[in-house]
Amino acid sequence: MIHEILPVGMLQCNCSIFGDEQSHEAIVVDPGDNIDEILAVLRKHSLTVKAIVITHAHIDHIGGAAKLKASTGAPVHMNENDAPLYDRLDVQAGWLGTETPERTEIDSNAREGDSLTLGGAEFHILDTPGHTQGSISLWIPAENKLVAGDTLFRDSIGRTDLPGGDGRQILRSIHAKLLTLPSDAVVIPGHGPNTTIGREKERNPFLS
Ligand SMILES: [Zn+2]
Repeated sequence: MIHEILPVGMLQCNCSIFGDEQSHEAIVVDPGDNIDEILAVLRKHSLTVKAIVITHAHIDHIGGAAKLKASTGAPVHMNENDAPLYDRLDVQAGWLGTETPERTEIDSNAREGDSLTLGGAEFHILDTPGHTQGSISLWIPAENKLVAGDTLFRDSIGRTDLPGGDGRQILRSIHAKLLTLPSDAVVIPGHGPNTTIGREKERNPFLS
């Protein structure tokens, strides 16, 4: 499996590009910005995007979704509980002092129990609310990888002081859904370096 992680935009959101070498299909997670760079990576590997997945509707994660969808025709998957946040993209742009990006329709309500397939690998959607009400994580058992959005970081957890945030709920999500995954599972957070479930279980000061 091809997996490139591209920090995009001024907040350096980790955009993940997964590609299957055989079918040349791809899943792109959190195309927040820098869509031209994302398209260049797709071209480099001759990949066709079959799905765009949004871990949550903060502008740094979803800002480029409309442009990527327009360029690739791929459907956008996001949890519907974040629709109110996506409706307020202009307010979010105001927080950052940036222009409001183009908005697109959400094609599929991504929620727990759903999965996407890429080559032989399944991408399972986990509901992990708390950072926002519609925050999801992607668990890929065949790769032993978790794409955690802004729910879990190396040495930290997602902030819960923005609209839709809930400090108790994010801890419940992390303990029930994420820390129960294998210790050696690699975690790709929404920002910053990768980690593992085991490392965060042992050393994350917010989880003791
Ligand atoms: Zn966020």
